[in-house]
Amino acid sequence: MNEQPRAMAGVIKGARQALVAAHYLPDGDAIGSTVALALALEQMGLEVTAVNHDPVPRMYSFIPGMERIKRPQDVAAVPGLVILLDCSDMERPGRDLKERIQESGAIVVNLDHHISNTGFGDLSWVDPGAAATGELVYSLIREMGVEITPAIATALYTALATDTGSFRFANTTPAAHAIAAELIAHGVDVVRASLHLWEEKELVALRVLGAVLPTLELAAGGQIAWMYVDLATFTALGARSEHCEGLADYPRSIIGVEAGMFFREVEPGVVKVGMRSKTYLDVNELAACFGGGGHQRAAGCTVRGELQAVIRRVVGRAVEMLCQATGEKWTGS
Ligand code: 5GP
Ligand code: MN
Repeated sequence: MNEQPRAMAGVIKGARQALVAAHYLPDGDAIGSTVALALALEQMGLEVTAVNHDPVPRMYSFIPGMERIKRPQDVAAVPGLVILLDCSDMERPGRDLKERIQESGAIVVNLDHHISNTGFGDLSWVDPGAAATGELVYSLIREMGVEITPAIATALYTALATDTGSFRFANTTPAAHAIAAELIAHGVDVVRASLHLWEEKELVALRVLGAVLPTLELAAGGQIAWMYVDLATFTALGARSEHCEGLADYPRSIIGVEAGMFFREVEPGVVKVGMRSKTYLDVNELAACFGGGGHQRAAGCTVRGELQAVIRRVVGRAVEMLCQATGEKWTGS
């Protein structure tokens, strides 16, 4: 079990510079893991560049050190060691970063917890049993003997708290709670973190919710539910991707619904799908049918096609999978 963190710690200790990145449209695990590892490597004397394809969503602005995450265009050169966090494949960092990393010939380290991880990279440590990539970063930091400062603790707590839905989802393990306890002991301001992560939203996020709720539809006798937003509505509201955080949870929250989905037209002819399930529908498998991935209870994909056509295809496949799983017979949506 200690093999992989030890091997990874060895590679890191032999490096002088490193680039740390996570997936595009970053969530709390992506941001928290990036900041925590960047601060840890810096403590070890490495020159660290932290980068993300997209800007840091405002809800994570309370994490000390988040301001050091640059955009790809602000990174002059890719160093010899690249550590990719919370990325299930080499596409997840975004196309520009992927190309620059591959052209650089850097050693690529893959640290992740997605069951759909392809095992890419020169060295990979993938543990689908980890609640968040931040849990693996915590183990790595411990292995390397780095001091857990309040900033590192806050970043890792954010990773764990967000990926577990505030310690509610199926990935909430004793280890997740034990590590969270340890992090709180190292200086996390839980009240402040909770305020930013759960209790305060930008006005536009509620406007998006208001526009999206009337689109709610159900299929398979009320076991599949979804909502959507088209590009014109999204743009007219002045919304950004981060304002859709958690929207797939709403259709799933209905009693009797097994899987909830949220469809967003991100550009003409391109639809991003967020999927969440409760107990038995494997949404990682569903997302994989459309080139995406994730976890059994939370996954996503990006599908080309007109919004309503994409909805029909994805919902149709979800209904088929539900029928296979339950032996029931539903047709159409
Ligand atoms: P969300 O719906 O919050 O964007 O994502 C839920 C889970 O699915 C996360 O673990 C995320 O990394 C994964 N995911 C979301 N979109 C994609 C995608 O397009 N491709 C892959 N491989 N995973 C995705
Ligand atoms: Mn994650």
